[in-house]
Amino acid sequence: MQDAIIELKGVSKFFDDACALADINLSIKNGEFLTLLGPSGCGKTTILRILSGFEKPSSGEVRIAGICMNGVPPEKRKVNTVFQNYALFPHMTVAQNVGFGLKMQGLPKDEISRRVAEVLRIVHLESFASRRPAQLSGGQQQRVAIARAVVNNPLVLLLDEPFSALDFKLRKEMQLEIKHLQRKLGITFVFVTHDQEEAFAMSDRVVVMDQGHIAQIGTPEQIYEEPENLFVARFVGEINILEAQICEVRESGQYGAIIDGALFPLRSRHTFAQGDKVMVLLRPEDLKIGAPDETDGPCLAGVIEESVYKGATVDIFIRLAGGQRLMAAEFFNEDDAEINYNPGEKVSVAWVDGWEVVLPDDPGHTDARHGRD
Ligand code: ATP
Repeated sequence: MQDAIIELKGVSKFFDDACALADINLSIKNGEFLTLLGPSGCGKTTILRILSGFEKPSSGEVRIAGICMNGVPPEKRKVNTVFQNYALFPHMTVAQNVGFGLKMQGLPKDEISRRVAEVLRIVHLESFASRRPAQLSGGQQQRVAIARAVVNNPLVLLLDEPFSALDFKLRKEMQLEIKHLQRKLGITFVFVTHDQEEAFAMSDRVVVMDQGHIAQIGTPEQIYEEPENLFVARFVGEINILEAQICEVRESGQYGAIIDGALFPLRSRHTFAQGDKVMVLLRPEDLKIGAPDETDGPCLAGVIEESVYKGATVDIFIRLAGGQRLMAAEFFNEDDAEINYNPGEKVSVAWVDGWEVVLPDDPGHTDARHGRD
């Protein structure tokens, strides 16, 4: 991967008085698979529309391949979009759909045939060239839409929730196919989804968005393991939030803190002072449940409330002595009697030292806490 192929510098977008994007700064590398992830209305599609030229930024600048795009119309940008609804022409064959743009450009027939055949081979649809869209499955129609977009050799392919019409299994298959296709083509893909698993499965980097702002940019691992704020931590997967108070400032980045009456060592990239209130974030799969007397390190005392069988995993809900409720997730193993916890059973809860994420206290953090408390 080389230099930035797309740069957004201080891009804002207002619809009347409503701010859809606020000072977005983003650099997308050439050949990168980048996903814009966030809840409905956070501004993902608006970014795509600004990149494709269908929408103008209210302020700021977009550069593609180093060239400022202000005032450049969509057809003059080396960017193509694959839409949610595919937008295929129903009366045309697959080959005609894919070759339509090339025909409009007035390219010679044999060049069109060659390029169409080449992309149909890449998306494994060479034997479907003479079918019409209605004679194809949803996944095949999706591949035609992608073939039609890549046949123009764009520098960047924009994909706006392209799998939303597909069922769960096909969606998973298409995720892998698109990821492999992107690697094969070497084109930069900017993908939009509100589905965290989809974003993680496909992307080199993920941009998590919240109400027109970038909440975090990082690899899937960074986003999941090291969320920079509560919004990201909550949006990507389940998270437990423990309230804690710093009681000891040790060497750089290391603290002693009281959680539910017990002293724990904590690490953080943030700087805290003695007495500061903090939030300790832990993923359910990082919690270790043990017998109450299994105390080879600091642990919390709790009581099992319920366990919920999920197939591959079991979700275990624990009420701590201080009243807070935690969720732990363990792999289900029929032979392992240890994870068959019964309601009312006393347990200890611990985690691997350093796996916690510690953030400054956010007094509003209980407001939307999974609705479980
Ligand atoms: P979704 O996942 O639902 O598609 P999104 O993250 O793509 O959402 P956008 O479509 O970018 O969100 O919309 C961002 C905000 O801008 C929303 O509040 C939306 O209502 C508003 N918005 C988008 N387009 C327009 C428009 N043409 N006129 C007025 N407001 C708009």
